[in-house]
Amino acid sequence: MIFLQHVGKRYTTGQEALADVSLELDAGEMAFLTGHSGAGKSTLLKLIAMIERPSRGQIVVNGRNLNSIGNRHIPYYRRQIGMIFQDHHLLHDRSVGDNVALPLVIAGLRHAEILRRVRAALDKVGLLHKERALPITLSTGEQQRVGIARAVVNKPPILLADEPTGNLDPELSLEIMSLFDEFNRVGVTVLVASHDHELIRIMDRRVIGLYAGRLENDPTHAVPHR
Ligand code: ADP
Ligand code: ADP
Repeated sequence: MIFLQHVGKRYTTGQEALADVSLELDAGEMAFLTGHSGAGKSTLLKLIAMIERPSRGQIVVNGRNLNSIGNRHIPYYRRQIGMIFQDHHLLHDRSVGDNVALPLVIAGLRHAEILRRVRAALDKVGLLHKERALPITLSTGEQQRVGIARAVVNKPPILLADEPTGNLDPELSLEIMSLFDEFNRVGVTVLVASHDHELIRIMDRRVIGLYAGRLENDPTHAVPHR
């Protein structure tokens, strides 16, 4: 489903965020991407979502080599990916329902279909009763769940989450992770960047460790013991 081959990313500042990463994530798999701050977790997710382009290497998602996708086609490519951020990026002057509807409005769906799907997505995260509320009136955990509803509303086969529980207490974090778990159980491929070791331990899924832009278990590159 997601295939990285010798991927490197150097930003225009000269900062090398990823050195040489090769990995494969199967369709229907759920994995955690872990590593200290600055290890390259966000960058890796951004490359898969085509928010950034790699400097070296190949990324193949769902059979498509991303290097062959022109900038014009990125919005179409991105419809198969739901992204969740730590600070959820909700629009504060729009209702919860309107926020969740956004990807569908952009995709040009009909009004009745949008309403139906928005309600289905809000229902999945337990927030159907907040459809007309403004995000500001919700708790942090609820706001994050709205972000998740928005990410899954067009049923993408892939979910990418960047520190989705970074602002939440352990109990709420577990709640959010259970949601990802549920989407994974219906076949969605899920990749979650997190440095919450306790949470990752509880979830008991595959862990992909990054250390200074390389895979932690990369046999071609010794990593100091910590
Ligand atoms: P993580 O998500 O693991 O904290 P990042 O992928 O955000 O790691 O960052 C990896 C490295 O790349 C860091 O040194 C960071 O400062 C740098 N970096 C991230 N984004 C940019 C950017 N847009 N421009 C320049 N350097 C960046
Ligand atoms: P539909 O009748 O369109 O299939 P459902 O009532 O089954 O709609 O549920 C739709 C909701 O399912 C979506 O809005 C979303 O919250 C969630 N979802 C996201 N991705 C998937 C998926 N791959 N499989 C099933 N449900 C998903």
